[in-house]
Amino acid sequence: MTDKPADKPRLSVVAPCYNEERALPCFLERMIAACQEWANGAYEIVLVNDGSRDDTWACMRALAHTNPGVVAVNLSRNHGHQLAVSAGLSLARGERVLVIDADLQDPPEVLGAMMTRMDEGADVVYGRRRARVGESTFKRATAHAFYRLLGKISEVAIPLDTGDFRLMSRDIVNRLIAMPEQDRFLRGMVAWLGGHQAEVEYDRDPRVAGETGYSLGKMIALAVAGVTGFSTLPMRLAGLFTGLGVMVGIGIAFYVLHGLISGHAVPGWTSLALVMVFFSCAQLACLAVMSLYISRIFTQVKQRPLFLIHEVLECPVRLGLAAPRAMARDASADAARFSPAPEIRFVRRAGTPPRREPGR
Ligand code: UDP
Ligand code: MG
Repeated sequence: MTDKPADKPRLSVVAPCYNEERALPCFLERMIAACQEWANGAYEIVLVNDGSRDDTWACMRALAHTNPGVVAVNLSRNHGHQLAVSAGLSLARGERVLVIDADLQDPPEVLGAMMTRMDEGADVVYGRRRARVGESTFKRATAHAFYRLLGKISEVAIPLDTGDFRLMSRDIVNRLIAMPEQDRFLRGMVAWLGGHQAEVEYDRDPRVAGETGYSLGKMIALAVAGVTGFSTLPMRLAGLFTGLGVMVGIGIAFYVLHGLISGHAVPGWTSLALVMVFFSCAQLACLAVMSLYISRIFTQVKQRPLFLIHEVLECPVRLGLAAPRAMARDASADAARFSPAPEIRFVRRAGTPPRREPGR
């Protein structure tokens, strides 16, 4: 921990906790050891109690009391993993932030490799799961299928087989917490932010204690947040179904009319069938048009920035650093800083463009 609490720590660790009273002491011991080694002791560990039903909060309070690097946060109720992480991120002050599960499935020792990749210039270093020991076949199979499906339909490249175990730079964390969308699928949002994203492979361990807090319902909700937040394909499928429906409808209309002309139709059947075909096609077409507009409203209400500028390069001549006029005015004084072949100056601006204005 830093000597002065007001200092920004080099590293913040954010760990969401739901019914983790038995895992927390072991987690903290290993996490502190990793932080001591890789953050030179300048760290904070933000533990977020996500409305646990066991004694997680009492355990956290005791740990925060005896460990100067621990910050304990108590949410008002169970808000779910993604919001617990978001709460922790909003409180983390470190130059770099590690998000990690508290059940030791993500080994804290991977921090070393992540810090090294970030020293090499990465903005985000995510952990990619090589093996998943101790997880049910159902969970492994559904996760495998889900990540691949999402990879196919998502509008941004979300890395396969990754969770939220990742190290992020302060710049990325600031941008992430500034994204106002309500349905948060953090691994997709971080991928959307871009920058230099690197990976570190690791083997996922079994839970050290307790049970998974991700019920089937929560897993489905997360999958839905991922698909709907990063793909408009399901909505655009309405257009495809409309096209198919209209083609089939036209075929049926011909068949029905043929029946009428050849005299095989029961009286009243032709008009009934044509009315049904007409209104089904009309309804499908209206749904398709509405879904087009709804998908635009959906994109708009997410209020994501239009784009993020990572870097801007400008020539020093334009910046006035080596202007020929300055040379002429005081050649001797300027000679030292004038570079005959102007170098490209590296200007890094953390630019986030204004949000879309309604109606534009
Ligand atoms: N978690 C949480 N809120 C929840 C469910 C889980 O904060 O509603 C935490 C949990 O304590 C753990 C992390 O999120 O630190 C991942 O959850 P879990 O281990 O239950 O998920 P799994 O690894 O089985 O997918
Ligand atoms: Mg787990």
